[in-house]
Parts: sequence; C-alpha cells; structure tokens
Amino acid sequence: MRAKSRAIAGQISASVIRHLAIGRRVTPSANPSHVLGCLLAVSLLFVAAGAHGQDRLPIVTSTTSLKALVEAVGGERVAVTSIAPATMDAEDYQPKPQDVSRVKSARLAVRVGLDYDLWFDRLLAQAGRADLMRGQAGYVDASYAIAVLEVRGASVGPSDGHAHGNGNPHYWLDPKNAEIITATILEALGRLDPEHAEKFERNRQGFLSVLEAKLADWERRMAALQGRALVAYHNSWAYFARRFRLDIAGFIEPKPGVQPSPAHLAAMIRLMRDKNVGIVIREPNEPERDVAFLAAKTGAAIVVLSAAVGATPQAKDYISLFDANVEALSARAAR
Ligand SMILES: [Zn+2]
Repeated sequence: MRAKSRAIAGQISASVIRHLAIGRRVTPSANPSHVLGCLLAVSLLFVAAGAHGQDRLPIVTSTTSLKALVEAVGGERVAVTSIAPATMDAEDYQPKPQDVSRVKSARLAVRVGLDYDLWFDRLLAQAGRADLMRGQAGYVDASYAIAVLEVRGASVGPSDGHAHGNGNPHYWLDPKNAEIITATILEALGRLDPEHAEKFERNRQGFLSVLEAKLADWERRMAALQGRALVAYHNSWAYFARRFRLDIAGFIEPKPGVQPSPAHLAAMIRLMRDKNVGIVIREPNEPERDVAFLAAKTGAAIVVLSAAVGATPQAKDYISLFDANVEALSARAAR
C-alpha cells in the first residue's frame, strides 16, 4: 500500500513536471486543457501524499515528554499521542474511556515505568492488545538501562503506598538520560519499521548533537545557582539537580504524593531560614497555596518550572523544556 502510493505519487509528479515543461516551452498563453490536466495531476499528487501521510506509525506514550522523545527519533514516520495531557500530573492520571481506543489503534506503547505510570498497565489490559503488553514487541519501558536514583534499600520494606516506591521515576529531567531513552526508542522503532531504521538513527544523532551543544550552555548558565539552596513542592528534580549540581534542601511534600501538614510547613520555614533558601520551585499543576505561604513567610521567590513537555507554553519540546527551566532559574539567580 505504502510503496504503491509512493509509486503513484512519483508517476504523477513526473507527469506534472512534463506538463509544466511543455507549457513553458510551447507558449505563454496556456492551453486550457493543459492547465486542467496540471491542476488535476497536482490535486491527485496531494491525495497520494495524504494517503502516504496516514501511513505514519501510530504510537501512544504515557507522557508528553516521552512523546517528544519518540518524535525526535521517529520524525515524519510517527504519529504520537500522549495519553496523559501536559496540564495534568501524569503520575496520578486516571485514564478516560477514549484513551482505550487510542491504545487500540497503536503499534507501539511507550511508558515511563518505575511505578510512575501504573495506570498504563490497566489501560493496556483494557485495550486487549496482546502485542502491546509487557514483554511483547510493541511494549517499551523507557526506564530500561537508566541508572535510577533514590532506590530504597531492601531493609526499608515495600512501598508504603506513596509514589516513588521503586526509586525516583523523573529520569527524563536529566538531559543526559535522553541518550539512553532515545536508544531504547530507536531499537523499538527499528524493530517495527526496519525499512526506516537508518533514518531513525540519523534523526537520533541529529537530536543528540543539538542536545549536547545545548547542555554545555545550560551547565554554564546554571553555574549561577551553585551554593544556593532551593526547595521544591514535589521531588521531580532529583536527576535535574544532580546534572546541574543544585542543592535542593527539602520538599514541601513530606513524602512524594502526600500533602504537607502544618507541622511540616513549620519545619520547612525553619529549614528555609537556616539554609537561606531564596527559591521555591513549583510546577504549574501543583497547589499554589502552600508554596505561596512559604514564599511569603521566608521572602523566597517562586520559580515555576516544567517537569513535562507542554506543562508551560515555553516548554514546547524536549530541548525547549530545559531552555525554559534554565532561563527561569538563572534569571532568578542573577537578581
Ligand atoms: Zn514523582
């Protein structure tokens, strides 16, 4: 089907070129039948191109950040849908009925893993697609081969019901981890569409070389934050902080996914005064009240950062996510 539509498009474009060439050579006052023929050929060309466009590989991801990384590798060949929208907390997303049909038409399902998106398992089960289930060809756990931070020791016991039970899952917020994530995606896309494997490899290399140049710039600008303690609402920032050597002194949530008590907020005020914390990090979907309270009590500034592509308008794709976060933090540090 794909090869056929491409062949048709090739024939049509050759015929269009012939028509145009003849038109130019023969006479400036165009022959109406020629013009009509050209218009028809051009419109058929668009139809053929449209048919080819529909041939993109349908892929679902649990998050917008993974969508951005699949698009960085897959380019024109993929049509990616993120199940959790950028404006919601994907760690706590509740799938909607329409999400099941989105999964049903997918060729590949890509998830964060590490208990971040446990709801994705239920969704895959509801979609009833054996090939997308864990361990099958259409299933991709993007945490594969990632060096996970904050893994609890066996002595601590099983997860107590809060998030981050299997280590900190926000690994895409270290730009260096994009090398590993895109390698996993590349492998899956190459398996699904071996005909375009070389193209995927080129896309990935192009993306990584831009990222590498950007990383040097981000590290240089983030040097302004060295030696300054920060606090954040949720611990989305373990990987980001390690890469850019930030000192995140505490979290407004006493445990990931748990709202703070008045006693915890009082302890946070003491900690922020002791460590002279000047910045409180908040994500757009996090509750504003406790962040504003701590900022007002201590004189710290609130800096809104995106932990997901699309969470703020500036974070349009994977690279602009870091551009926006580095800009917001370094602008505040420069004051
Ligand atoms: Zn989390």
